[in-house]
Amino acid sequence: MTMNRRGLLRSMAGAGMLSLTCAREQRAQEAAGQAARGMPAPKIKDIQVIETQPAGARLTVVKILTDQDGLYGYGCATFTQRAELVRVAVERYLKPLLLGRTTDRIEDIWQTAYDSSYWKNGPVLNNAISGVDEALWDIKGRQAGMPVYQLVGGKCREAVECFASARGGDPKAVIEASKEIVKRGFRYIRVGGGGEGGPGGSAAARASNVLHNGPLYDRGASYRRTLKLLEECSGAFGAEIQWATDMHERYDPRQAVQFCKAVEKLNIFFIEDPLSPEDLAYFRQIREQCTTPLAMGELFNSPHEWQPLIQERLIDYIRCHVSQVGGFTPARKIALLGENFGVKTCWHAPGDLSPVGHMANVTLDIVSYNFGIQEWSPFNPRVLEVFHGCAEMKDPYLWVSEKPGWGIEVDEKAAAKFPFTDSGARSGLNGGWGDLRLADGTVIKQ
Ligand code: MG
Repeated sequence: MTMNRRGLLRSMAGAGMLSLTCAREQRAQEAAGQAARGMPAPKIKDIQVIETQPAGARLTVVKILTDQDGLYGYGCATFTQRAELVRVAVERYLKPLLLGRTTDRIEDIWQTAYDSSYWKNGPVLNNAISGVDEALWDIKGRQAGMPVYQLVGGKCREAVECFASARGGDPKAVIEASKEIVKRGFRYIRVGGGGEGGPGGSAAARASNVLHNGPLYDRGASYRRTLKLLEECSGAFGAEIQWATDMHERYDPRQAVQFCKAVEKLNIFFIEDPLSPEDLAYFRQIREQCTTPLAMGELFNSPHEWQPLIQERLIDYIRCHVSQVGGFTPARKIALLGENFGVKTCWHAPGDLSPVGHMANVTLDIVSYNFGIQEWSPFNPRVLEVFHGCAEMKDPYLWVSEKPGWGIEVDEKAAAKFPFTDSGARSGLNGGWGDLRLADGTVIKQ
């Protein structure tokens, strides 16, 4: 093959550029080594997926091993509704992309993983990226001998106040459950009236006009019951106890506007997910009608979803699921964006989140000036058998670990004792939720 003069010059210039780039990278790496007190930058030697189901939810944790003996980290990649796909995304997509890279460039690795697939912002990939991202933060903390919160500015509060959830078949039972919660020192209580976790239908309605045999949701009944519940709870306690409910995106947008307006006079700390991500424009209407505090975000995958709500101050609490948005790195940016617009944080923290994910939440809470409140689900004893060093609850405060990294060790032998299963009421759906329908058979969001 022949090459003309211009081509030859171009190729020589290319080679020169390459060596210049390599030299520059080497110098940057040396500088980073000095900044890290002479500690050599670890390289990613292996990326493993730990799957365990000690109590209900299928928990997925990514473990990154480095080329330095005993230096590794854990990240939460739990997406229990599509757990098996997260494993594939980590093993078949991220692992080949990232093996051999230095662990000290967390931002660079996050952007690489996010952009490499080109089509992005999906829950499977975001959770897989979160597993890697949080494992890298864990490694950096272990290297530094510091908890992750020290790497992002240190504490701006001592511990993290949480809300508790009270459940019961009727307002009387919920009030009784709430009295016990108040005795434990909690000031914020979330209650459900069929919007959260319940069908919202009644036996009478089913007998007369229901045109299907599946799970039923009656929006009108749920609306009336939840409003009554909040009125009774609010009336049964003093002003120092505040209330919330989760509408779980199940109402019609018009009903959601009306509901938020109807509870404005009550002692509400927020209404959670009044609208689905498809109906975000209705937040403007709610804001025009009332001052009821609003929380939203557990279904969000993309900046396109949270940015407008925060920038237009259409919500009061951003409630993203940290692994769902891609891990600690993007969640920290969301918190900082919120701080600039007066929006507080309330990270999603149900049972289908690993203790590593909970620690990432608490770390964000403890370093973010605009922390609002934290959701908290107690750890099942079997979860504590697998995960050692979890965040500690001393009612009503959650305490971050003071150990390096996230401060959590995973007992992999114990984890293996609880393999994934597909059992329970939704068995056969592999984590899916099935359908929820109105009386006439219309499927709705759940
Ligand atoms: Mg919720």
